[in-house]
Amino acid sequence: MSSENRTSVPNSLNEHWMPFTSNKDFKANPRLITEAKGVYLKTHHGKTQIDASSGLFCNPLGHGRREITEAVTKQLETLDYAQPFQQGFGGSFELATKISKHTPGDLNKMFFTICGSTAVETAIKIAVAYHRAKGHAERFRFVGRERGYHGMNIGCISVGGMVNNIKTFASVLMPGVQHIRHTHLPEHKFVSGQPETGDYLANDLETICQNFGGENIAACIVEPIAGSTGTLVPPKGYLQKLREICDKHGILLIFDEVITGWGRTGSKFGADEFGVTPDIMTMAKATTNGVVPMGVVACSDYIYDAVMDASPTGAVELFHGYTYSGIPVAVAAALAVQDIFEKDDIFNRAKNLAPYFQKGLFSLQDLESVDNIRGYGMMGGIDMKLNTKPGKAGYECFKACYEAGVNFKATGDCLIIAPQFICEEKHIDEIIEKLRTGITNYQ
Ligand code: PLP
Repeated sequence: MSSENRTSVPNSLNEHWMPFTSNKDFKANPRLITEAKGVYLKTHHGKTQIDASSGLFCNPLGHGRREITEAVTKQLETLDYAQPFQQGFGGSFELATKISKHTPGDLNKMFFTICGSTAVETAIKIAVAYHRAKGHAERFRFVGRERGYHGMNIGCISVGGMVNNIKTFASVLMPGVQHIRHTHLPEHKFVSGQPETGDYLANDLETICQNFGGENIAACIVEPIAGSTGTLVPPKGYLQKLREICDKHGILLIFDEVITGWGRTGSKFGADEFGVTPDIMTMAKATTNGVVPMGVVACSDYIYDAVMDASPTGAVELFHGYTYSGIPVAVAAALAVQDIFEKDDIFNRAKNLAPYFQKGLFSLQDLESVDNIRGYGMMGGIDMKLNTKPGKAGYECFKACYEAGVNFKATGDCLIIAPQFICEEKHIDEIIEKLRTGITNYQ
């Protein structure tokens, strides 16, 4: 099979160990995507599907954006790679400045990474480095949240709270991590937007401070809306409370905005949407519209300054970085994305489309096998009723929907829905209609 003709099943599927996949089941009955344009994908069976989850929340601007392709191509022809240590190239500085104009508060210093996981790992290390620079090496404990997803490296799964991602690796987790409870309460049934109840759950952080000494805690990390676990929206007042408790104890608040960043909530960031500014914020995915891997850690000025001030001029202030930190090709894609955000007024577009999407999403609540629906902005989660074993309903329903022509990701028994921001109302209608068909065929 030539590289131009990847439309059929390869001769062998054996050598590729696929990520987060039922490898044995997939290889017996493969699902290959061969083309993507706008809101549509094509499968190796020649069928068209609508993309209902923007890939993995990462292509809100649609597939095959000419502006991004051209920018990346031009960059590759001019400067394909420059190693990023003790030297640089202009684009990454330009991008950092552009991003700093969007980030709230004084989150003005950008550290570039490879993806969301390396952004979270970097945020953890920067939090430790900051406290050490301030003379507080005792602050090494981290607080994460149940049902949080922060990526797959050891630091990420240690602060994350999705048990299937953790249990095999329990022996190698980071020491000193505690978890506050997740915010999904039984009374939060079919709630679109922020639940009215549950802000008291933030007090779990205060309890951990009492048990371990708030002065020993480096940072608390949460997603403003837990995305991968199926859109767990923070109750009203909850994030404000977390902020207050962090301030009281000198704990850094980290928002993992890998999903919620760049318009998904209807504002640029979850921090803006909920009116709470963290000390550190991570982004990835939509930063490049998903086409070239890139993560970003936005740090408050005072964090950067403290780490800089702790070292003499000429010394490397932070022993951290990646071969692919802010490389030209990723930067070119991200700069093109920034242009599109502005040119197409993307954040307002997402905000304006969100109510229509939410209405469509919640119209599925009459389906017998649907247990619950949650939604906010341009993201939503549909919990399926349990079918013999955890995860079975989600996977079987995903396959039925795939056949019905709608593509998304299922996490456990939750269908993760996050349409592209370029959708028109007719595309939202198509997504909802095909979800209805797929879910009905599954039942
Ligand atoms: N953080 C959050 C909130 C995420 O949703 C994800 C991925 O879905 C990550 C981190 C990890 O990102 P990546 O898969 O790019 O490493």
